[in-house]
Amino acid sequence: MTATDLKQRLIQVQTRIAAACQKVSRPAEAVQLILVSKTVPAAILRDALKAGGLIFGENKAQELKYKAVELQDTAIRWHFIGHLQSNKIKDILPSVEMIHSVDNLALAQKLNQRLQEKSQKLAILVQVNTSYEESKSGVSPEQALELLKQVSELPQLQLHGLMTIGALSQDEQRVRDCFKRLRELSQQAQQLKLFANEHPELSMGMSGDFEWAIEEGSTLVRVGSAIFGARQL
Ligand SMILES: *Cc1c(COP(=O)(O)O)cnc(C)c1O
Repeated sequence: MTATDLKQRLIQVQTRIAAACQKVSRPAEAVQLILVSKTVPAAILRDALKAGGLIFGENKAQELKYKAVELQDTAIRWHFIGHLQSNKIKDILPSVEMIHSVDNLALAQKLNQRLQEKSQKLAILVQVNTSYEESKSGVSPEQALELLKQVSELPQLQLHGLMTIGALSQDEQRVRDCFKRLRELSQQAQQLKLFANEHPELSMGMSGDFEWAIEEGSTLVRVGSAIFGARQL
């Protein structure tokens, strides 16, 4: 894809985000776009940065690590959005500003320990499997509050909200139900004062469903193929 095409697609997505916000009377700044750049070469990310991209999401630790090195001369900001193995924590900690996908206590504890050694803190989200699809990571909605309580007590982790992936379905109601479930959990956790920030993040919405997610309260949308095109396998 040429730099011009990429810029056009990015503007299209930004316009759709603004329109979805307007539909439910939310300010456009209430939603941040994360450009999901997995499998996309670093050279294209440079074009995306020039076109106005700010935050990029990767789901593999190795890939994030080498792209971060290649792009260290830029102002790129990295979020990690994939399944994280604890032996890969060290690869991403130097470059990430947020991990969206903490879904078990052992991982949270290892992250906390590693951060403690470096006297660092890190913003994290807890991933919830709101669709109950077996292929998906995430703590179950029933166990989420318990995990959130435990994670909120780890001093190096700043619990900033929740993340989910909507059901893989064309059925709008089914997809929206996932997002509603996440929002309700977030409200419960907020009442229990489990979040480190006043306005917790809801990371939900991808290329196929981000408008519905925004209408349900998303604050972070993770959009890949609508910007970069279909991924090569
Ligand atoms: C790949 C991925 C996305 C983006 O998916 P698209 O459908 O290409 O927008 C969002 N979130 C996660 C966790 C992903 O792995």
